[in-house]
Amino acid sequence: MPRYDVVVVGAGILGLTSAYYIKKWNPDKSVLVIDKFASAGQGNTAKSEASFRNVFSSKTNFFLADSSVDFYFHLQNDLGYNLGLHKIGYLFLLGETSYRKEINVFREVEKKGVEVEYFEKDDLEKMIPGVVLEFSSEDEEAKRLNLENVVMGVLGKKCGYLDADSLVKFYEESFKKEGGLIQYKTLVTELILEPLEKYCIPGEPFTWQEAKIMGVKTNRGEIRADTVVVAAGAWSNILLDPVGIDARVKPKKRQIFVLKGESLEPLFNIKGFNKERVLPFVAMPTAEIYLRPCIEEKTFWVGCTDELGRKFELEEDPQPEKYFYIYGIRLVLEKYFPHFRNLKPLNAWAGQYTQNSLDANPYIFEEAGVITVTGASGSGILKGDAIGRVAAALYMGEDYAELYGGRKFKVSDLGVDERKAEKEELVL
Ligand SMILES: Cc1cc2nc3c(=O)[nH]c(=O)nc-3n(C[C@H](O)[C@H](O)[C@H](O)COP(=O)(O)OP(=O)(O)OC[C@H]3O[C@@H](n4cnc5c(N)ncnc54)[C@H](O)[C@@H]3O)c2cc1C
Repeated sequence: MPRYDVVVVGAGILGLTSAYYIKKWNPDKSVLVIDKFASAGQGNTAKSEASFRNVFSSKTNFFLADSSVDFYFHLQNDLGYNLGLHKIGYLFLLGETSYRKEINVFREVEKKGVEVEYFEKDDLEKMIPGVVLEFSSEDEEAKRLNLENVVMGVLGKKCGYLDADSLVKFYEESFKKEGGLIQYKTLVTELILEPLEKYCIPGEPFTWQEAKIMGVKTNRGEIRADTVVVAAGAWSNILLDPVGIDARVKPKKRQIFVLKGESLEPLFNIKGFNKERVLPFVAMPTAEIYLRPCIEEKTFWVGCTDELGRKFELEEDPQPEKYFYIYGIRLVLEKYFPHFRNLKPLNAWAGQYTQNSLDANPYIFEEAGVITVTGASGSGILKGDAIGRVAAALYMGEDYAELYGGRKFKVSDLGVDERKAEKEELVL
């Protein structure tokens, strides 16, 4: 029966970064990554729209994001890995309500050292041709849609998007170069929970026995390991629930719709926000809708982090909903950005966030021989590097992980018992 020091379940971004740093910092340990899919990053990592930002209200999320983004720029600019990074910025359009709720959040964010720029409504109207930021009191449709006039825009500067596939390839190849092993098309069906001292009584382990996870059962046989890392994203609970380990996360469906058309051209020729002269990623003032350009395809990717009414549910193959775009997104989007009128999505897909509803920071903790790495809450790509470093530090029994750039991060802050993570206000 194969035996490893560490088995990592999941070759998504979090499994790969965890495996990479565990192997890199422990070269003598044997580390195997397994995934049910045929290649790396085919779970929700592939469904992501791969935007990045360091604008987070929680100090914890900020440290994780800021250092990961710096590392990705280091890879691209200093080491020559093309990750397709585009630093186009994130523009938060604040309506009357969101201004009241969030302006202090942005002021606090600035104090943490995040570079932001404030834009008056009038300036935004001049900069973004055709945008509508104010609705007349006669506009019945705007009233019915609960649209808010925009009060101001806040631009996060160290923000943009990247190519998730290239990022995944970097970690996969680097892990293999360190001597790490990967086995695809291998479904983990169960974590093996056994007593340290076996009496071979049916039903073991009993309450009085010391027990731990000894490995995994898969569709290709058992694999034994001293430590199992569960980085199974939205599927984490399937493996952890049966052995009584609570990952404290729930899956929630998220959808992306891709739009293209001549009417969008002006949005690819805008001065004043970024060097690429495009509309930044935009978080709309109402209805949790966001859009980001894809410069390579001259398209816009549009999504929505709908909450109330969107059930928590694991779906193996979630599908985009045509009517969600038409009624949930388009009606609002077209009012602020008439450029999208008469355009139909040319592509769409759906995936799942692994949502930590308590504070929207990741969970990284050890229990009974299992290290759980999960709860990226919609921002696992952009925090991936730091999460991997924290997971590896936990494996090594370190109190602190060193993030890229040298910042020390207390490992237990993302754990359960001594958790210290501020609630994130800016979940997108
Ligand atoms: C629509 C959408 C948009 C998003 N946009 C962004 C964004 O702009 N920026 C950002 O940073 N993040 C974004 N995210 C979130 C990001 O995609 C996730 O946080 C990240 O991919 C999570 O990585 P993961 O490794 O935890 O999960 P996954 O990538 O899902 O990896 C988990 C892996 O575990 C494997 N696995 C699960 N169970 C088993 C099993 N029993 N046996 C074997 N293998 C198993 C799966 O096959 C999968 O490959 C978005 C997500 C969605 C859905």
